Amino acid sequence: MLNIALFGPPGAGKGTQSEFLVRKYNLYYISTGDLLRKEMAAKSKLGNEAQSIIASGGLVPDEIIVQIIEKTITENPGSNGFLFDGFPRTYIQAYILEGLMIKLHTSLNCLISLNVPEEESVSRLLNRGKTSGRSDDNEQVIRNRLHEYNQKTLPVLQFYKDKGIYREVDGTASIEKVHEQITAIISQELSKSLFNVVLFGYPGSGRGSQGKALAKHFGLEYVATGAMLDQEIRMHTETGKKITELYENGQLVPDEIVVQLIEKKLANSKEIKGFIFKGYPRTLVQSYILDGLLRKHGSSLSQIIEIEVPTLELISRLDARSKTDSCMPYDNSTSKIVKRLHEHETKTVPVIEKYNQLHGVTKVNGMGDFEEVFTRISEVIENGIRSMR
Ligand code: AMP
Repeated sequence: MLNIALFGPPGAGKGTQSEFLVRKYNLYYISTGDLLRKEMAAKSKLGNEAQSIIASGGLVPDEIIVQIIEKTITENPGSNGFLFDGFPRTYIQAYILEGLMIKLHTSLNCLISLNVPEEESVSRLLNRGKTSGRSDDNEQVIRNRLHEYNQKTLPVLQFYKDKGIYREVDGTASIEKVHEQITAIISQELSKSLFNVVLFGYPGSGRGSQGKALAKHFGLEYVATGAMLDQEIRMHTETGKKITELYENGQLVPDEIVVQLIEKKLANSKEIKGFIFKGYPRTLVQSYILDGLLRKHGSSLSQIIEIEVPTLELISRLDARSKTDSCMPYDNSTSKIVKRLHEHETKTVPVIEKYNQLHGVTKVNGMGDFEEVFTRISEVIENGIRSMR
């Protein structure tokens, strides 16, 4: 997720820049000013309480702000993250934002301050007042808003300077130049965040060969739990022996074993752009484990893809593979193949459904030759990376 707070005095251009950023990065826009104006228009209890304060240019109490933000944020649609405009405006609100981010299992990437001198703010707001229809865009109220900004809002910057996520741009430059400065900061932020893909598909759908090739193509680390387990078998470790027994019975390997192997892989992967997970998560429990593991590394899932192949085709592919050298111990008999398909159906399909509700799963047609399917999935990943970066 990409979470940004735009900071600056009234009239700094936060609203204008937000419009670009929301579109460019598919962010969910939260302007506390807009939310308050909506409450006022609806004549709600919160709106009525805020009305006279806003009209005088004062700051609405944190208690009201937390309620309107909470209401909006929990509706959290499938966006790439949040863009906050006009929030946090007090030191207390900076703490509120920290709490909200924790609740959403994410964090603020940076606070970008649009620096504009006071007189420039005043003249811009007076100008805007001619057309905005906002009762608070008149000189006396503007002066009061700036006074509140200097007294209560400016100290918020120290909070983010201490956290090391404060960035600033020259807000007096042209709209395009300010936009360029902001996108340069965001690109830098995004290059720090990992792009993580989960590749789903029934056994025989090609997720292994595709996953490996895609990881190479996009410079991502390939995490195939099956291959990790095989390595344990090949190295004749104690874990390997246990795994062999489970394979013989067509059973899944316990989470304790798999989680340790993934943990090791994540910890050893330095300077990488992200991961492609194949064959994991396979159960609902594993989906929670994966969220937890990524979260521990300050990351989250970016994209979920399912390769779709009709059942008869799957069976014929698996049967063909069982007669070749690439036959795995878990697909050397019809009964084992059927058992694996059944395990996927009963345990993994509910995971895909859960992801579909939470993040959306992109389905890709897995029929056709390797190159065709590879091209289809690559396009999906390219789009995902583009919308994230
Ligand atoms: P804006 O549209 O951001 O300029 O906000 C207009 C007015 O709404 C401000 O002058 C405040 O009275 C009120 N307001 C907006 N956001 C906040 C906030 N985070 N905390 C307190 N008051 C706010």
